[in-house]
Amino acid sequence: MIANNLTFLKDGATLEIDKLPDGLLILINSRINEDSKLLKEYKQNESLGKIADLTILFATDTEISTTSNNIILDKQGSIHSICPPLANMKDFCESIMYFKKTGSDLKHLYTKIKPEKTENWIASISQFYENYNNPNSTDGLWKFGQIVPSSGEYLCSDCGYIMTLEEGSIFPSCEVCLSGEPGGASETDQEFWKKL
Ligand SMILES: [Zn+2]
Repeated sequence: MIANNLTFLKDGATLEIDKLPDGLLILINSRINEDSKLLKEYKQNESLGKIADLTILFATDTEISTTSNNIILDKQGSIHSICPPLANMKDFCESIMYFKKTGSDLKHLYTKIKPEKTENWIASISQFYENYNNPNSTDGLWKFGQIVPSSGEYLCSDCGYIMTLEEGSIFPSCEVCLSGEPGGASETDQEFWKKL
């Protein structure tokens, strides 16, 4: 659970996770200002803000003045503490975290550490939302963000890397060839995981 020391920058109110809509919650950790590329891309993608079961928040550790109501201040590093890949990091780490939110429960789905700044991650997040909500495979192949239908070994058809994945978890991007990510061998809208 996220601690209660997170503050919305626009109005100074404390962020209450329970009051956010259920669905996917994407937290982008970044040292951000109004000119940040990710924030600009988010603002240009108006339709994303209208999806009822998708919440995108930007978390930053330094106070800035902002007109955005989806930027939260996390001076204490509370967000890192709830995210398994980040929990032991002492330093602020640029990252994108994907959670499933149900009531007051946040289930960690995936975290991308240090996303490449030149890529369009907002478009990738939008595609992730579509993938997560689509259980169907194409020709026995799955995309990043789709839900793993049965436990077992899965092969990245782009580079041959094999991962053991649990039923009900999500297909990650490939950590070797970065398939599933913007700029990877396959992009977020392409399928590449194959069951062995
Ligand atoms: Zn691969």
